[in-house]
Parts: sequence; structure tokens; C-alpha cells
Amino acid sequence: MLTNKVQDALNAQINAEFWSAYLYLSMAMHFEAEGRAGVANWFHIQFKEEQAHAQIFMNYVNQRGGRVELKPIDAVPTSWASPLDAFKATLEHEQKVTSLINELFALAEAEHDYATRDRLTWFISEQVEEEDNCRQLIDKFRLVGDNGMGLYMLDNELAARTYTEPAPLASSAE
Ligand code: MG
Repeated sequence: MLTNKVQDALNAQINAEFWSAYLYLSMAMHFEAEGRAGVANWFHIQFKEEQAHAQIFMNYVNQRGGRVELKPIDAVPTSWASPLDAFKATLEHEQKVTSLINELFALAEAEHDYATRDRLTWFISEQVEEEDNCRQLIDKFRLVGDNGMGLYMLDNELAARTYTEPAPLASSAE
């Protein structure tokens, strides 16, 4: 059984993952409207990934005999000055998510809930990747600056991103 403290923290994390999904969907819609199809595609995949993160936590709560409580999702920003601006906001947001996951890990340890701690290790590595991806894209957008050809090529690069089901969901289907 999950302790109330752990269950509440997991439910808060589920809400945070849905907020992330909502944020990236908002970015996808904004850049689609701005004619940046590749950037929009990248954020649309990010939106799907965040929904998968929420799903992993929801599956886990149910697996442990807990109760998922879906809370309202707060409003998200709706416009960004440039893709660079949006990727900077994304990095900042993902750094916040990393600290949430770390706090959750510390709570699981304090509550001697080693199954939850174990589930969280996948998220810890995932956050390293999320932050690194963002940093690389920020570097690329800084490098091209206002260069039209550079921006066009970068948009094509982001258009090629495809969605892959995160490992914990792929394996829970077995
Ligand atoms: Mg996430």
C-alpha cells in the first residue's frame, strides 16, 4: 500500500505532468499558427510524451492499490516571441520538473517506499535527457540567430522528430 503522503505526492506529480503536456500543446498550437511546422511537430511530440509520463504514474498508483485523483490543470502561457524563447522556457520548466522528481524520490526514501523509489529512477534518467535535448536546441537556435536558411533547416530537422512510447508504458502492455 502507498502511504497517504506518497499517494498525495504522486497525484500532485500526475497533475504536474498534465500541466507540462498542456504547456507543450500550447507551444505546438502557437508555432503551428506562426507557420513553424517543424517546431510545432517537436512540441506536439513533447505533448504526447508528457501524457505518457502521467499515464506511467497513474498506472503505478493503481498497481499499488492507490487512488488516482485528477485535479484541475492550471492555465498555461499562450505565446512566445520566438522558438529560442520557447526552448528557453522549456528548459526552465524541465529543471523545475527535475526538482519535483528529486523531492518525490527523497519522500519515497523517507517513507521507506522502495517500490516508488525504484519507479522514479526511470524518470530521473528521463529528466537528464529532457534537459540535454533542450540545451542542444537552444544552442542550435542561438547559432543560426536570424539566418533564414538556418532557421529553415532547423525547422526541417525538428519536423523529423517521431514519437516513441516510453519504455515503462511499452513494457506494462505485456
Ligand atoms: Mg514529464
